[in-house]
Amino acid sequence: MTVQVELPCPKCKSTKMKFERPEIRETDVISCAACGHNLGTMASIRERMNKAYQQLKQRPAARKLQ
Ligand SMILES: [Zn+2]
Repeated sequence: MTVQVELPCPKCKSTKMKFERPEIRETDVISCAACGHNLGTMASIRERMNKAYQQLKQRPAARKLQ
């Protein structure tokens, strides 16, 4: 199973994240692979991603991308 997290780093805008292990747990702290910026726990990142996804769905123009 592959887990993909695409959340741009607020510091360097890199979307490459560093994980402590292949199987990510909700309590794992994720950091940016490029600059090492702490992005918070998997749970908080997932929450932010869900919010961003909900906002995308609400925009009619974004539907073309899917
Ligand atoms: Zn970064």
